[in-house]
Amino acid sequence: MKIDLVTIFPGILDGPFKESMIKRAVDRGLVEINLVDLRSYTHDRHRQVDDTPYGGGSGMILKPEPIFEAIEDLKSKSDYDCPYVILMTPQGSRFDQAVAKKLSGKKHLILVCGRYEGIDERVRTDLIDEELSIGDFVLTGGELPAAVVVDAVVRLLPGFITEEAAANESFSDSLLEHPHYTRPSVYRGMEVPSVLQSGNHAEIDRWRRKESIKRTYERRPDLLENANLLPDEKKYLEDIIKEQD
Ligand code: SAM
Repeated sequence: MKIDLVTIFPGILDGPFKESMIKRAVDRGLVEINLVDLRSYTHDRHRQVDDTPYGGGSGMILKPEPIFEAIEDLKSKSDYDCPYVILMTPQGSRFDQAVAKKLSGKKHLILVCGRYEGIDERVRTDLIDEELSIGDFVLTGGELPAAVVVDAVVRLLPGFITEEAAANESFSDSLLEHPHYTRPSVYRGMEVPSVLQSGNHAEIDRWRRKESIKRTYERRPDLLENANLLPDEKKYLEDIIKEQD
């Protein structure tokens, strides 16, 4: 996969992809991540990327010309047919694990990071395939949201984590993941559940699945609507609901 991040502050995105597992994915060639400085698509002495809004009002707007030129250039250099262009915006649809999964199947993503009051509307209407928000709050720029999207997408690429790990993760199968423990088996009087130390893998799987259902009911009952529960798991859920009523 290739990911281009279009930004006026590439320095903000320098860190997140140079450490730990994302760096390893880059080093292993699973993904190529390019920081594209929007100012390199300006033609004036001041490398101006923003201007005042038509109609007046506060703040500055990212000008259309550099963004059009940047995206057209990145598309023309792409090895893939249809690079998928995403605008980071608080007005977009909410980014979640299902969207991350969908995007992990694309070959070339171009993420556009807004700044100031946002971007000229003509960019949105003419160039953007999808608008994504990472939540109902307003940040100063699209760089951190874009880093969130890249991180979530890259870790779903084949070969990044094992299929088993991905299958058990929160939001796969519309459930939150079960609790985890590591050594020591007793810490400050708190014991690791004995089933996890039993070596009985069928029992451990059953315990984890039940904890996962219980945790989802307690924290995110909305997710359970789409969960694929077996008949005995549905019964287990009904019992938890009765117990907690
Ligand atoms: N004036 C815009 C509005 O009210 O919708 C907000 C602009 S915000 C200060 C500047 C940029 O930060 C946006 O263009 C967008 O790229 C990014 N941004 C801010 N919050 C975001 C969020 N929750 N999700 C995705 N991008 C966000």
